[in-house]
This record gives sequence, C-alpha cells and structure tokens, in this order.
Amino acid sequence: MTPFLLVLSAPSGAGKTRIKDMLLQGRDDVAYSVSATTRPPREGEVNGRSYHFLTRQEFERRRDAGEFAEWAPYAGNLYGTLKSELARIVAQGRHPVLDIEVEGARQLREHYDNAVLVFVLPPSGRTLVERLIGRNTEPRDAVAHRLRRAAEELAAVSEYDYAVVNDDLTTAVAQVASILDAETRRVSRQQGLPDGLGQLQQDIEAAVRRIEHDARYAEEAAPSPRRE
Ligand code: 5GP
Repeated sequence: MTPFLLVLSAPSGAGKTRIKDMLLQGRDDVAYSVSATTRPPREGEVNGRSYHFLTRQEFERRRDAGEFAEWAPYAGNLYGTLKSELARIVAQGRHPVLDIEVEGARQLREHYDNAVLVFVLPPSGRTLVERLIGRNTEPRDAVAHRLRRAAEELAAVSEYDYAVVNDDLTTAVAQVASILDAETRRVSRQQGLPDGLGQLQQDIEAAVRRIEHDARYAEEAAPSPRRE
C-alpha cells in the first residue's frame, strides 16, 4: 500500500475536528499529522498532540530552513505542516490525516501528487454561525473574523476532490472513511498487485495445461470406433 495524504479542510465550525477524531479512533491505517502553530494553546490543548506550539521566531526559522511541507497565516498566526511529521507517519505505513485551511491545501496539491483533498461543509450557514458562537472559546471579534474567513473559504470547494456535508456526524465520518477506502484501492496505490496478478495468471495457465493434458489423455485412452 502506498500512503497518501488525506487533507481535510473546512470553515471553522463545520465540525471537521470531530470528524477527524472519530475517523482516527476507528482505524489504524491513518495517523494525525500534528501541525505547528504560533497560536497560543487553548485550554486543554497539549503540546505535541494538539499542535507543536512554536514561537513566531522558531516557526519562521524552520520555515526559512525549508522544514514545512506547507504553511499559511490564519487569524494573525502562522500554521504549518512539518515535513518530518509526514515522514514519521509514512514510515509507519500509515496515511497522514491533515486538518488544514485552504491555502495550505493548495500548496500540497501543487507539490505532492499523492494528496486527496476533502472539503467538509456545514449543512447551512445558520448551523455554522451557531456552532462557532456556541463554542465560546474566543472573543466576538475573533468569531467575526472566522466567519468572514469561512465565507471566503467556501469558494475553494471546487479545488477539492471530495465534498462531505456534516449534517449528521456519524454519516459524515462514514463518508470520509469510504473515500479513504476507495482511494486505498486505486490500482496505482496497490504495490503488491503486480506480483499477485502474476501468480494469478500462472495458476490459471497451469490449470488450463492440466485440463488440456487430461482431455488429450482421455481421447487417446478412449476405444476407437470399430470398423465393420
Ligand atoms: P485553530 O486555531 O482553530 O486550531 O485552526 C485554525 C485554522 O488553521 C483551521 O482552519 C485549521 O484547519 C488550520 N490549520 C491547522 N493546522 C494547519 C496547518 O498545519 N497548515 C495550515 N495551512 N492550516 C492549518
């Protein structure tokens, strides 16, 4: 199996994080790519698990050293995917799952030919607004900023490979899982397939030879019709 990047993007409040968490809980062929950010940790967030929290200086130093597969500014902070994070997951034979905004997804699309881009949509604008305000983790102006950005991000859906509407969480997770399964089965990603096919062909040819041999033997062994 050739690992590919499963990129999830969504406007804030579409429920992408919960989809990602549920998807990761249920399967061991994927692993979360922990992003780096200059944003301060929110309550309950753990360094190295939620994000790699970096100072702006450290982020910029690593960015300038070419350590990021992609990066983008968002709401006054910098976010990025470290190449080392992707390499670590791929070395485990797993598909990295990335939770990133659209500018970063564009960069991955440009530089990686094995990225599968999934956009998660809220069922309606009202749901999105309610979810964001209900989250209550940020001041109102930050919420307004996220909403404005959400409206802009929606325009990027056409650049993605798949769109999933998060009306019901369980259904949305199942839909992302089915995308993952289908993409895993692309012939180009099944490295073991050529060997397996070769064996299959050999088995069939051997069976044909056996049948033809048996048929010839039966013909020879059969008594020839008596001449009068
Ligand atoms: P939050 O601050 O709510 O955790 O994330 C804000 C936005 O940054 C979300 O849209 C999230 O998907 C995006 N984001 C998180 N990590 C990355 C990353 O590594 N790269 C990019 N481009 N965006 C990210």
